[in-house]
Amino acid sequence: MQKESQTKSERVDIQRSVAIQSAHCPNGCDLMTDKVMIHGLKSIAVEIQWQQMRGLIYLDPEFGKYEHVSEIDVPEGVVVEFYCPHCGASLRNGEELCHSCAAPTFALILPNEGQIVGCLRRNCFEHTLKLESLDSMQLQIDDNLLRMIL
Ligand SMILES: [Zn+2]
Ligand SMILES: [Zn+2]
Repeated sequence: MQKESQTKSERVDIQRSVAIQSAHCPNGCDLMTDKVMIHGLKSIAVEIQWQQMRGLIYLDPEFGKYEHVSEIDVPEGVVVEFYCPHCGASLRNGEELCHSCAAPTFALILPNEGQIVGCLRRNCFEHTLKLESLDSMQLQIDDNLLRMIL
């Protein structure tokens, strides 16, 4: 667990923000990357596809922030597909539709913590990905706390 990257003073806020530390595709590929850092944190790289356009999108790992970095520019309102950039598995979550716009959703697996579900409609996932996730994560945290307290 020793990291040698403490030399340059990083601009990581010391605030207690909730950030995704680890996210996997359904086959277990690690989606975190340091190729693109967002808020000084590793981002989550997934392949985004819309019609013939395909590229990588780096999702903001911090809950409540939406500074995603996308290689391709898709129009607002369209529904995209997300794939694992390593094994090509679809990240579409067949079990759930977006609560706000009824578009299909995608899921990222958080080892030991469950999963994050977000909307595949462009301007919806940009604004609701983290909110929905934060809700479910808070619920999970609350549940765990409750269990610990009880
Ligand atoms: Zn994969
Ligand atoms: Zn939506």
